[in-house]
Order: sequence, then C-alpha cells, then structure tokens
Amino acid sequence: PHISRLIAAGEVVSRPLDVVRELVENALDAGATRIEVEVEGGGLGLVRVRDNGAGIAADSVSLAPVRHATSKLEPEAGAVERVTTLGFRGEALWAAAQAGELHLVTRPAAQVGAAEVLAAGDDVTVRRTSAPAGTTVTVRNLFARLPARLRTQAPAAAEVREITALVGRYVLHHPGLHWRLTVDGEPRLTHAPADHRGAVASVYGPLSANRVLRVEAEGVSGVVSRPELTRARRDRMHFSVNGRPILAPPELEKAVIEGFAELLPSGVAPLCVLDLTVAPEDHNPNVHPAKQVVALADLPAVAARVREAVAEALMAHPL
Ligand code: ADP
Ligand code: MG
Repeated sequence: PHISRLIAAGEVVSRPLDVVRELVENALDAGATRIEVEVEGGGLGLVRVRDNGAGIAADSVSLAPVRHATSKLEPEAGAVERVTTLGFRGEALWAAAQAGELHLVTRPAAQVGAAEVLAAGDDVTVRRTSAPAGTTVTVRNLFARLPARLRTQAPAAAEVREITALVGRYVLHHPGLHWRLTVDGEPRLTHAPADHRGAVASVYGPLSANRVLRVEAEGVSGVVSRPELTRARRDRMHFSVNGRPILAPPELEKAVIEGFAELLPSGVAPLCVLDLTVAPEDHNPNVHPAKQVVALADLPAVAARVREAVAEALMAHPL
C-alpha cells in the first residue's frame, strides 16, 4: 500500500542519518539553545532529538506530520531563493512517519499543557500530555515496513560514525548552543556554549583547538589551523552557508589552501571551520534532497572572500 508515497518519503529519509539531520534542522529552526540527539541500533531502532525551542502550538500540532501542510515557503515565485529557515519543504516529519513510527511531544513555553502526536504511515493520533517547553521527536523502527530499504542500510557502526560526524559538524557551525549526542546510552559528544575554537575542542580535542587561528571578515567567520601544525586531513574542512553545513565545493577548499599561499606544503589540507553568510537570494539550498549541496550564485566571489579572509588571519598571527 502507498508504494508511491513510500518512495517519495524515501527521497527525504533514505537512512537514519537523514532523520538526524532533519530533526536537528527543525530544532535549529525552532531557535533551540539546547539540542540532544540519541541514537540506538545505528538509528534504525531509534533516533530522538530533544530541544528547548519554540515548540508547536496545540492547535496546529496535528498538521506537523502532514506532507506540505507546514511548509515555511510562501507560495510565491522565487520563494525558495529567499528562505531563511533550514527546513522549508514540510516533508521531513511526514517522511519519518511514512518510513517509521514518529512520536512527537511539544509545548511552547507560554502554553499550559503539551501535545503528543503518534504517527505511523497515515495513522495520526494526537493527545494532551505534560512536558517541559520545547520539542522531543522520536523515530522508531525505521524502514520496518520497507524491507527492501532495510536490506540496503549500512551496518550500524558505519551509520553511527557518519551520524557522529554530522552532529560534530553542527557543533562546529553552531558552537553557541548546548549539544549532546548519545549512542546506545553512552555519551558520544557533548558541548557547552563556546566559540568556534571551543567547538573544535569538543569535536577534535583540546590539542587541535590550540592549533587554530580566528578568521573574521565580511561574510566569513570561523577558524583555520596554524600552518606549521597542519596535518593532511581533507575531511577536516568544514563550511556552512547561512547556518547550513554544506558539502563544500572544491573551489572553497581550494580557496582556503590558496589563502595559506606558500605557508602550506603541497598536498596538505588545513583544519578549518568557516561560516559563510550570503544574501538569501544568492544561494539556493533546493538542489539536493538533503539540502547539503547549495548552489551559490557567485561562487568565484565567495571563494575570493574566503581566500582573503584566510590570508588576513594568517597575517594577523605571524609565526
Ligand atoms: P519543514 O521543516 O520543511 O517545515 P518538517 O516536516 O521538518 O518541515 O516540519 C514540519 C513543521 O513542524 C515545521 O515547519 C515546524 O513548524 C514544525 N516543527 C517540526 N519540528 C519542530 C521542532 N523541533 N520545534 C518546533 N517546531 C517544529
Ligand atoms: Mg524540517
């Protein structure tokens, strides 16, 4: 039943990592200052994200898992080019409910009672309950109704590695929040509000944090490793555009390396965390279902800004 819908849902949620990303983005969109992620069984058993954000009002909560019912897009032409929230399709909770069992408990701070939603497939139940302000979303038994999808999942350990790296990227790009990742009941990553350097300490350890320099320029903010301490690990280059971690286009990685000029031996990549801010109309996050690939209207200009910001940071801190 509903095969076409399951396929559509599978484009938004094709693995546990997607559930983690979508739920974390919802928590960020809700303005949370504390975000806790729990994963069990590689995420197929359970993914839970708890936040202290704005919550969903009781009178609209039943729409949260309904496809497109809650899209943050205004229905005018060009709206997708101007979105400022991370979510905008109104599909993630719907897809999670199609692919697994969704349980959502939510309360806006000013509302007296909380609401609870249970959704699996097209069955949606709403109840009153009590809960602290904020939202907790739990997705259980992902793909239990989709055996073909279940068979193609990565082993739990591999998925947990990627989930840990993903949450680490959110910590690096949103270091001002409280973060916690728990895997099968064991704390995996914790972070208390700090700057980018503090986030590097939480994700890569204090040694790495001592090796970074601040980068602060128009539209570019973050840290890069000091050239003399740089090791060749390209997987430690992190970029976000308007708060969304992205798969960096090679042009941006190249721009950072060029910013180091001759300070960097060839073949070596610095650690960097760079948050880029561009005008909403200059980027389109709608290129990829996971929204990790963004189209930047003027990539050469952004790359030039990155190169100069890195060069300036290195000049400000002579060896
Ligand atoms: P989208 O984020 O694309 O709007 P989602 O399916 O991810 O769609 O979420 C549906 C809606 O439910 C959101 O637009 C938002 O209004 C609400 N919502 C989801 N998660 C949260 C949360 N953690 N806190 C507050 N509201 C939420
Ligand atoms: Mg969303």
